[in-house]
Amino acid sequence: MIRISSLAASVQPSATLAAGAKARQMKAAGIKVFDFSLGEPDFPTPAHICRAADAAMAAGHTHYTPVNGVPELKAAICRWYKRYHNFDCTPDMVIVSNGAKHSIHNALAATLNPGDEVVIPAPYWVSYSDLVQMTGARPVVVPTTAAAGFKMTPSQLKAVITPRTRLLMINSPNNPTGIVYTRNELEALADVMLGTEASILSDEIYEQLTYGNAKPTCVATLRPELRERTITISGASKSYAMTGWRMGWTIAPKPLIDAMGNVQSQETSCPSSVSQYALLAALDGPQDCVAEMRTEFRARRDLVCERLRKIPGITFPTPDGAFYVFFDVSAYFGKPIGGATVTDSLAFCKACLETAHVNLVPGSAFGAEGFVRMSYANSRAELEGGLAALAKWLGA
Ligand code: PLP
Repeated sequence: MIRISSLAASVQPSATLAAGAKARQMKAAGIKVFDFSLGEPDFPTPAHICRAADAAMAAGHTHYTPVNGVPELKAAICRWYKRYHNFDCTPDMVIVSNGAKHSIHNALAATLNPGDEVVIPAPYWVSYSDLVQMTGARPVVVPTTAAAGFKMTPSQLKAVITPRTRLLMINSPNNPTGIVYTRNELEALADVMLGTEASILSDEIYEQLTYGNAKPTCVATLRPELRERTITISGASKSYAMTGWRMGWTIAPKPLIDAMGNVQSQETSCPSSVSQYALLAALDGPQDCVAEMRTEFRARRDLVCERLRKIPGITFPTPDGAFYVFFDVSAYFGKPIGGATVTDSLAFCKACLETAHVNLVPGSAFGAEGFVRMSYANSRAELEGGLAALAKWLGA
């Protein structure tokens, strides 16, 4: 029998992708499923971006590109950071990869050694802990509570820093909670990091999706002294509905970008050529498409929160970014629901999918038992139908 490496054997399949696969099987069998498991905008990629890809192919941009991305795209990314965050970065501080997940993987591969510690506030995006473990480093998970708005405090951060701490991974707006740290809150965390030798990896992929008074913060702009140890990750998947184009990027000091370029040159040679020209059009082109999607996401957020609040026992801090609600379902544990009795979030989601045909992701996948994540990147009709089915299943 073929042998599987201990590296591969230690990696869990992505819980969100696995939940989506089970729902797809049910749909293929003719069952109507309300699928709220995937973190993927349901909008088409804006037409002007697709046209730019057509034009790129017609112009012959269908070959390998420089490893870190084409110069005109790296320049556009720098312009974007100047425009939105007044962050002065130069093209030699930029590397474009095949999605932000790939950017994170390369950044971790280029900074971590076995035995290093990486601080990750929970709830965290499913892939963080597995990506860290693949390098041989150790995730140090810091639990946060719904009562504290799912935000890590400076004293919690200070308490877990050791001489082995290499990195803090922070993600605001956050997947799975939708919370957005204020600039002041991030400054307070940055000040703790100032007193250490560790770096910060800030995953800002949802930065264009904030609602109401919430504002995104580019962590690299907080403290000049930290700029040399801050890695900014972002991408096109969420803001421009470009999940399939696989475009992510990293802004970091040049020595790290060079190291990541070496890793990337051996892994994928370069990011997809056609997608790079599509991303260039997304960043340099009209931004009304982003504003329209943001307005619709906000309306859906309001709808989902209003319906969920009517279900007894379900509680959550109001999300003000990304497109998720992360709610507490532990009040239902140990009690019969629709003929089943569940005692954890995995069993809750399994029973919910099988009985109510509503697909949610267990909080345990995000390091927070007792909760489930609902994505509202779905039409209002689907959201209304699914929430009615959920409420009925829970006897509300
Ligand atoms: N970071 C966070 C917090 C995410 O939620 C996701 C996708 O779900 C990613 C990164 C990766 O996005 P992509 O690889 O599509 O650019």
